[in-house]
Amino acid sequence: MKAFIRLQIQLFIILLFQTLATTAQIKPLPEKYQVLPFGSIKPGGWLKVQMQKDMNGFVGNLDQLVPELINDPIYGIGRLHKNSKAKDLGNLKSGDAAGNDQYKWWNSESQSNWWDGYIRNALLLDDQVAIEKVKKYINRILATQDEDGYLGIYDNDLRYKFTSENGELWSKTTLYRGMLAYYEYFHDEKVWKALVRAVDNVMQNYPINHSDPFNVGKDFSGGVAHGLTFTDVLDRMYQLTDERKYWDYAHFLYLNYSENVSSETDAQLSNILNPDYKLNTHGAHTYEHIRPLMVAAYASGNPDLQKALKTYLERVKNCTTPTGGAIGDEWIGGRTADATHTGYEYCSLHELMDSYTALFQKTGNMEFADQTEKIFYNAAQGSRNPNHSCIAYLKTDNSFEMMGSKNGEIEPDRKQTRYKYSPAHQDVAVCCTPNAGRISPYFLKSAWMKEGQNTLVAALLCPNVLETTIQNVPVKIDEITQYPYQNYFVFKIEMGKANPLRIKIRKPEWVKSIVTNEKYTIEDGFLIFDRNFSKNDQITLEFKTDVRIQEDLNHEKYLSYGALVYAKPIAANEIKGKVYATGFEDLNYNPVDLTLYTYLKNNKAIYKSGEILLRLENSKTKQDELVTLVPFGKTILRQASFR
Ligand SMILES: [Zn+2]
Repeated sequence: MKAFIRLQIQLFIILLFQTLATTAQIKPLPEKYQVLPFGSIKPGGWLKVQMQKDMNGFVGNLDQLVPELINDPIYGIGRLHKNSKAKDLGNLKSGDAAGNDQYKWWNSESQSNWWDGYIRNALLLDDQVAIEKVKKYINRILATQDEDGYLGIYDNDLRYKFTSENGELWSKTTLYRGMLAYYEYFHDEKVWKALVRAVDNVMQNYPINHSDPFNVGKDFSGGVAHGLTFTDVLDRMYQLTDERKYWDYAHFLYLNYSENVSSETDAQLSNILNPDYKLNTHGAHTYEHIRPLMVAAYASGNPDLQKALKTYLERVKNCTTPTGGAIGDEWIGGRTADATHTGYEYCSLHELMDSYTALFQKTGNMEFADQTEKIFYNAAQGSRNPNHSCIAYLKTDNSFEMMGSKNGEIEPDRKQTRYKYSPAHQDVAVCCTPNAGRISPYFLKSAWMKEGQNTLVAALLCPNVLETTIQNVPVKIDEITQYPYQNYFVFKIEMGKANPLRIKIRKPEWVKSIVTNEKYTIEDGFLIFDRNFSKNDQITLEFKTDVRIQEDLNHEKYLSYGALVYAKPIAANEIKGKVYATGFEDLNYNPVDLTLYTYLKNNKAIYKSGEILLRLENSKTKQDELVTLVPFGKTILRQASFR
């Protein structure tokens, strides 16, 4: 009887996928906003200063800190073949689920994600020395492309012939994303042609609806599952060309991933449709897979996939802490987010943020822009070391020590070393540092978008300079602000000539009132400024708000003002660990005195010059005290939520 039921279920799943693959391609959905070519939006103010520091620090120097990983010629003379051995990455392999297969392709991820961040930082900062280095790198990569267009990490004996874990699509995704940025910036036709041929080569060798790229057996297949984000490349190429084949292929990849066995199960359609399923697998995968699901839903217009996307996002919400960090330490394991006990990986922060920017671009739903800012300005800033050029691999909202383990918890099955600050984290994996170099350029590329022919949309607020054209008239907008540390903005507008222009500026969810001399209307949560602008013009704007006290999923209280969450810093001793090079070392922190505070109803919280002052109960003395909270992103050890 059981076998019969199982057969029935299998038949149902097969029928479901057949229906989705054939009849479901109803009509693609229109995208709400257009992404501007990479490089149209450059950083300003504090963000530019921070990115320059990163280029002088862990972003600009990672190839010096782990040269054997970054310089591995894995796309060229060092391509993988049948007799290739797993590489020694210099890590401890403590708590890896993966076994040796992932160590074969892993350098492609480390180096291509690092280059992607490096390319984007170099271009956005007009860093001429770095740009020369980037040009040489691009030429080196182009020289590895085969006659038939293959641009990847496998020799002929392996490519497209896998029956187990591999990095075929993933090594391409990470490489092509950086190449796309380079192409969009320089309009370099030879790079574009190389990309078109390389993507065609994938589509020829894994033909749409007649191949099985995700059929790789039941063992660990994390690299294959990462490869689903090849849809990032396809989505952008669709946007740049308007050619349906890219979106159709992305739809195919998502369905093929869904109908095969995978070690990363969260985004598989049957699991999303199962109301009892809880997010369970590797966080970074779970959050990056929002994008393939989203692209499949848009490419097909299939209402079932749109519904699945909604369900999936609800599940992600249950994994998200007050600062926007979602469980990623590293497996989700059916848990609900907790400000003290669930950590987030820097990779998972980047992936979730990138997914939210793409969701905002496609849907126009403000909630996704608010979520993007929440992650970037809180969880992500709060996982950087405010005083040194290094980041936390894993971090929690409430951070009581950073000595390797999660707030001192012992993990029986592994020696945990991820809760510390490092410029490379080579003892675990060089994944988070490259992604920490990608996050700022990826945030910036979505700061402005375009709607139709004559509307510019300020989607994410930050200091930046936009340069684009509206109906062939050059437009430059310098967004001058200290945001999110202050909520005052000057949008300085220069145009080739006086011209009518429609500017939409997002009103964040926390805004209480708006101060401006301009006339505006409000539409879908945007302020709309629609008038004739002179050649040199400006809009000034201030958002007023109050201290907000909110409850997280565990009914703990946390405080925010504007886009920023605030935390009580905990004084710490700094202990040096491994030294990679002068100025590039691992740093651990233990608390000088770990006194925690309890929430008081009558707390009289006020905001005063960048700080929140309030009364909390000292849990040791049981006395009320006046406590100062500072922006979460400026802390190392901290208490961010209060019971
Ligand atoms: Zn990572």
